[in-house]
Formats: sequence, C-alpha cells, structure tokens
Amino acid sequence: MGRAQQYRAVCDDVAAQCRAVGRDPHDVKVVAVSKTVGVAEVAQVVEAGAHDFGENRPDGLSEKATAFPRETWHFIGNVQSRRIPEIVRSASLVHSLYQEHHVSRFDAAAEAMGKVQDVLLEVNVSGERQKSGLAPDDLPALLEHCGRYSHVRVCGLMTMAPQGDPAAARSCFEDLARLRDELRGKLDAERADVFNELSMGMSEDWREAVVAGATIVRIGRAIFDETFEGALR
Ligand SMILES: *Cc1c(COP(=O)(O)O)cnc(C)c1O
Repeated sequence: MGRAQQYRAVCDDVAAQCRAVGRDPHDVKVVAVSKTVGVAEVAQVVEAGAHDFGENRPDGLSEKATAFPRETWHFIGNVQSRRIPEIVRSASLVHSLYQEHHVSRFDAAAEAMGKVQDVLLEVNVSGERQKSGLAPDDLPALLEHCGRYSHVRVCGLMTMAPQGDPAAARSCFEDLARLRDELRGKLDAERADVFNELSMGMSEDWREAVVAGATIVRIGRAIFDETFEGALR
C-alpha cells in the first residue's frame, strides 16, 4: 500500500472503531506523525486529505510547517527552553508541556507573536522511569500555574502507554481520561470548557485509546512506514 492509502485506511479503521464503541468518528482526530519522513511523503498524505501532522523536533516542525502552511502542525516531542519560540511559531497545539519553568517561556513567545498557545500537559501515567511527563499528583499545581498566563491555554492531557501490552495500555488510557474528568471539575467554567482533549494512542495501541475516550490519536508508522504490519495482537 502507498502512504495515501495507508492514511485513508487508518482513518477508516479509526472511524469504524469509534462506531463499534458508540462514539462519533468526528470526535477523534488523527494526527499523522511525520517525524521519520520528508516533505515528499507528507505531500502524499496531504493529497489523501490529511490536515493534521505531528513532529517531535523543532527543526522538522519548522521545515514541514513552512512547506505546508495550510495544514495544522502539532508539536509532540521533548521541549527545550531555547527552542520554544521556534515551536510557538509553527505549532497549533503543543502536546508535551510538563515542566513548570517552560510555561512563562511559552507565554512570552506566544505574546510576542500575537497568539495564544494551545497546549496539552504530558502525564507519565504508567510511572515508567524512561518516560517523560509529570506524575498525576503534580498535575493540579501545573494546571494552576498555567492559569496565571494569558497566552497559554491548556486544552487537555497527553500520555504514552507502556508498549507491547494492550491491557496495560488500556488501563493507562483510562487513567488519563479519569484525570481529565477530575481536573475539569476543579476548573472555573471558562477553563473547564476548553479542557477536553485526550491525546493518546499510537500505531500499535490506538484502538485501546479510542475505547478509553481519546480525542486525538498520534499515528506514525501505520501511515508512513510501508512495512508496518499492524497492531501487535
Ligand atoms: C513517534 C511518536 C508517535 C507515533 O508513533 P508510531 O508508533 O509511529 O505511531 C506518537 N507520539 C509520540 C509522542 C511520538 O514520539
């Protein structure tokens, strides 16, 4: 299959999974994670109708967002302070904010560019040492901190599940959904209104994420890797 077909197949599968669990397919956005490919491959998937793309490095983000300015670019990678202005220039949504000292920098960069930066807070639900993100217990403090900045808007939560075990992934995703609901209950009406997104699920575990309430799935290999064989199950 070519990449355009793979993209369409993923979208069809996500929609089918939504319907199978009683969800509206419009409520789950597929972000095509293009971090391993170049602009030619992105162009194939744009042709197939994709509008949302994810990058995990500022260089790739800038390059591809410049090449495809009409599409929506998501930053899903590790944030480094000095790269924040670059990220803000190109990213509609930053999925991976979790360090308190980055908040004021995102705010300043966004203000300088005349925008409000939408962000998700990355949570290390599973507690694995090698994973980035903050501990669930630290979320209320970070959320409160973000509330002091008018150019940063927190739209929800993001996580990555343990790999290779669908049951563990599912429980991780369910925990993230529960955290979102709990935290939303503590926000004022205006902030609660936009605190909706759950960015969770990748090529091998998006089915579990859709069941658990994902609103954004981040799919790389299943779209761009022509040798990808499907979920490990
Ligand atoms: C690479 C990456 C993805 C996509 O992973 P695949 O397994 O290729 O679908 C999703 N989220 C993040 C944060 C990534 O770095």
